[in-house]
Amino acid sequence: MAPKIIIHGGFFSESLTSDEVKKAKQDALTRIVKSAFQFLETHSALETVVYATEQLEDCDLFNAGTGSQIQSDGKIRMSASIMDGVSLKFSGVINIEGVKNPVRVAEKLLQTQDSVLGGDGATLFARKQGFNYYSTETPQRRKEYESKLKAATTGTVGCVALDKEGRIAVATSTGGKGFEIPGRISDSATVAGNYANANCGVSCTGVGEDIVSGAIAAKIVTRVTDGLSLQQACERTFAELKPFDGFAGAIAISKNGSIVHIDSHPAMVFASFDGNRLEVFE
Ligand code: ASP
Repeated sequence: MAPKIIIHGGFFSESLTSDEVKKAKQDALTRIVKSAFQFLETHSALETVVYATEQLEDCDLFNAGTGSQIQSDGKIRMSASIMDGVSLKFSGVINIEGVKNPVRVAEKLLQTQDSVLGGDGATLFARKQGFNYYSTETPQRRKEYESKLKAATTGTVGCVALDKEGRIAVATSTGGKGFEIPGRISDSATVAGNYANANCGVSCTGVGEDIVSGAIAAKIVTRVTDGLSLQQACERTFAELKPFDGFAGAIAISKNGSIVHIDSHPAMVFASFDGNRLEVFE
C-alpha cells in the first residue's frame, strides 16, 4: 500500500489576513506535509498523525497549540483528539489549559480507560503525566483579542494518514472559535470533527456547532463503510449542511488511497502528499 497523507490548517479568511500570511501558510503546510510523509514511510498512521499535528500546533500561524485563539474571559482553552482506525479507540482533551501540545496529551489518553477528559481534569491529567505549564498565547492573538477583532474560524489543524500496512488514523487540534463563552465545547474532540475506522478517516474544521449538527466525520466514515465512494460520501454529507448553511470543511482518506478535501465555504487551507503529487490550497 502506498502511504498517503493530508493535513489542514482550518480556513483562510481573505478579508482578515494578507497575501503574506496566505503564502506563509502555504509554505508551512508544504514543509509539514512533506516532513510528515517522510515520517510515515517508517512509522504507523497513528504515530504520524500525532507527529504532524504536533508540528501544526507549534506553528503560530494556526489556531491550535501555540497561537490558539483567546476566549471571551481572556483565557486560552484548547481541544484535541485522535482516532485510531485499527483499534477504534478515540481519545481527546476538551478545554485543556497551559500545555504546549494538546495532541500529545490525547495520545497519552489512548492508553487509558477514561479516554476523553475535559477542563481541569484534562489539565490535571496532563500535569501528572509530566506536561509542564506552557503559555500558548502569542502577541498577535492578544492584539486580536484586545481590539475585539473577530478572526472567525481560522486555523484549526488536522491530519489523516494511511500507512504502508493500510492502517488509517486521524488527529485534530484547535484553540476553538475565539471569543467563545468559557465552557463551550468544540467539535474537534468529538466524533463529528474527528473520526476513523478501517475504511476511512476524516478531520473537520469550521464552525463547531455546524459540524456537530452535521455529524460530519462520523457520517462520512459510515457512508464509506456502507459502500459509497469517498467522494460521494463527502458530497452527500456536505449537501446536508445546506438547509442550515453549515460552515465546514473536511479532509479525508479511504482505505483504497482516495484523498478528498471538501468545504462548504471557500477556502479551506490544506495540503496533501503521496511521495509524488503535492497539492496545496491556493
Ligand atoms: N471547529 C473549531 C471549533 O469550532 C474551529 C475551527 O475549525 O476553526 O472549535
